[in-house]
Order: sequence, then structure tokens, then C-alpha cells
Amino acid sequence: MGAEIPRKTPKGLLIVFTGEGKGKTTAALGLALRAAGHGMRVLILQFIKGSRHYGELDAVRHLPTVTIEPLGTGFTWEKDDLEEDRRLARQGWVKAREALTTGKYDLIVLDELNYVLSYGLLDVEGVLADIRRRPAECHVVTTGRGAPAELLREADCVTEMLAVKHHYREQGIRAQKGIEF
Ligand code: ATP
Ligand code: MG
Repeated sequence: MGAEIPRKTPKGLLIVFTGEGKGKTTAALGLALRAAGHGMRVLILQFIKGSRHYGELDAVRHLPTVTIEPLGTGFTWEKDDLEEDRRLARQGWVKAREALTTGKYDLIVLDELNYVLSYGLLDVEGVLADIRRRPAECHVVTTGRGAPAELLREADCVTEMLAVKHHYREQGIRAQKGIEF
């Protein structure tokens, strides 16, 4: 048994959901739901997404303190234009930076940001600098595969989803409403 870790007062956490298994975005949405139950102000920015109509876009209408905004035009591999992806990512980050600095939110979900960073569409150090500048009590959650090492080092909590089985991989079952979108 090691020495007892001294307890600290609550603070705004940086939480990262990464890995190859399903559940990263839905885990972040689960946290948003939990926070909303306490009347906390939540912003969900969805990098890359935009081509599909996700159930969460309509669900948040029932949650008065939650705002959600898709920033992209679909998955990056659907197009062959990295420059356009980079432009959209930068444009999205302007919104993220504003949200991080205004103090208007208690929880900010940056969905698929890990993925954007792993593709080099945004500068990791610049992103981390903006995340560090947020109010002390503001929680930030990032999701997506391939979270870069710098982000993992900075995070307070990292969960890696492990793909033990996936219905598409083993059975070819395609995306279904309420499960994938
Ligand atoms: P979800 O949005 O369901 O929580 P996710 O955020 O963990 O999934 P992403 O990496 O964002 O997953 O991938 C988006 C889509 O790919 C999801 O709809 C998911 O069902 C599917 N997916 C996730 N993991 C796998 C896998 N290991 N094999 C095949 N498809 C997957
Ligand atoms: Mg996801």
C-alpha cells in the first residue's frame, strides 16, 4: 500500500475518451446529460461531424442548459481535401477558444478533437494553451481516436475504449438510429 494521496478541492477537469472501441462520443454525451441534470451549462462542439443527423442534436432541445453545434461537413475520409478539413478545424477552434474563455460554460465537450489533432489539422500546443486558459472550475472533455501524447499528459482523466467486439466488424451490421447516430 502506498502513502495516502492528499485530497484536493474540486476543480475543472480535462477528461479524454480515446481508443478504437465504440463509446467515446456516447460517454461524453452521458456526462453532458449528467451535468445538465444539475442545471450546469454545457456546450458540445462536434468537430468533423455534420453530414449525418445525430439523435443528440434533437435530444438537447429537451435540455435547456445544453447547446450542441456540429462544425464539419462529414468525416474527413469522405473527401480528399485536407486543406478544407484544416480550414474547418481552424474555424471550429475559434468557437472552442471563445467558449473556453468566456466563462459561459461549466462543461465543454470537444467531440472528435483527438482525431483532428492526430491528423495534424490543429496545432496541439496551441490547443492546450487555450484549454489551460479556461476558468478554474470549467470541465473539458475531448473524444476521438488517436489522442496525441501531449494531450494525454495534460489530461486529468484518460479512458481508452477497447474494441473487444464490434457488430460491424464481426457481423457487418450497419449503423442504426439510436446506436450509431
Ligand atoms: P459512439 O459515437 O458510438 O460513441 P465512438 O465515438 O467511440 O462511437 P468513433 O471513433 O467516433 O466512435 O466512430 C464513429 C462510428 O464508428 C460509431 O458510430 C461507431 O459505432 C463506429 N465504430 C466505433 N468503433 C468501431 C469499431 N471498432 N469497429 C467498427 N465501427 C466502429
Ligand atoms: Mg465519436
